[in-house]
Amino acid sequence: LNVDWKVIKGDSDFFNVTKSFHNALQNGVGNITEDYFKIYDKWQEANLSEVPMDYDIMFIHDPQPAGLVRFKKGNSKWIWRCHIDISNPYQPVWNFLKKYISQYDSAIISVPSFGRDDLEIPQFIIPPSIDPLSIKNRPIPDTTILRILHKFDLSEEKPLVTQVSRFDYAKDPLGVIQAYKMAKRHVDIQLLYVGSPATDDPEGEKVYNEVVKASQGDKDIHLLLLPPYSDLEINAFQRASTVVMQKSIKEGFGLTVSEAMWKKKPVIGGNTGGIPLQVINGITGFLVNSPQGASHYIIYLIRNKKVREEIGRRAKEHVRRNFLITRELRDYLMTISYVANKFSE
Ligand code: UDP
Repeated sequence: LNVDWKVIKGDSDFFNVTKSFHNALQNGVGNITEDYFKIYDKWQEANLSEVPMDYDIMFIHDPQPAGLVRFKKGNSKWIWRCHIDISNPYQPVWNFLKKYISQYDSAIISVPSFGRDDLEIPQFIIPPSIDPLSIKNRPIPDTTILRILHKFDLSEEKPLVTQVSRFDYAKDPLGVIQAYKMAKRHVDIQLLYVGSPATDDPEGEKVYNEVVKASQGDKDIHLLLLPPYSDLEINAFQRASTVVMQKSIKEGFGLTVSEAMWKKKPVIGGNTGGIPLQVINGITGFLVNSPQGASHYIIYLIRNKKVREEIGRRAKEHVRRNFLITRELRDYLMTISYVANKFSE
């Protein structure tokens, strides 16, 4: 297969619109005017030159470029790969996007509950996956881990609780800090919150500033804004952690969960979206619905090495069976074969 990956362009107006769409789709509420739809359509057209249309199969990821399907030509087959929770969308935004999504040959969602009964096209359930050989996930020497801990001023002795996530309300960074503060009264830990600024996320700075404020005065809270592609650092932080958190309130899949589980870490995850596919409560990690719940499991895990090890072992095996790239490749090939066969009918 000849495979290419293209990235669309946009300006701040477009990214404001797409972030509002993203929030409206995942949270079920929105504040959207007609202008938003015009800006969205304008940028689909502007991106025509970025995306050659002469491929046999096109995978279009997420709502941002979904409207490109308008320009679909000839026999090419288009698959909409949705990474977010669209189970309870804000209806005006969903209705607008649905007229594009309906033009695809099929859609892929990550979790069964994201399936929609108002779409006539076939929907396949394919959770994302991680690449165990990538820089972010492959085994690295302890010396590298220590070097990176020292570089970022983290103690190698104090248990480390980590969340790796964009600064986005859906990832609940303030809830993570609240959980840490409650746990800290009982166990001496350090918290690491690693995020990187996303160019298409206009809300990131506001959330970051709130997190900085909530962390002030505690030298055991480490907030890191790393440049994109800091994969080796993220690998090291996940491996150095005693407990990993992904306390999302809304989540598509949550790749960070499988990344940590692959490294045999017990993950405390928000009970939402694709996290429960990965974290089977009490078996491969713990699911929580509140900062209080998260703090309870932080304390429990910090105090119980045996439980951490047992959960970590099962977590890695669960990822090995279900969330590695080889499984996703097979699922993608199956989807391609489905749309391609339809095309010969
Ligand atoms: N990530 C990263 N640097 C950061 C924050 C996140 O490289 O500062 C990576 C993280 O390791 C994961 C991905 O970005 O591979 C985030 O995927 P996820 O599904 O967890 O959340 P999303 O950001 O797509 O909502």
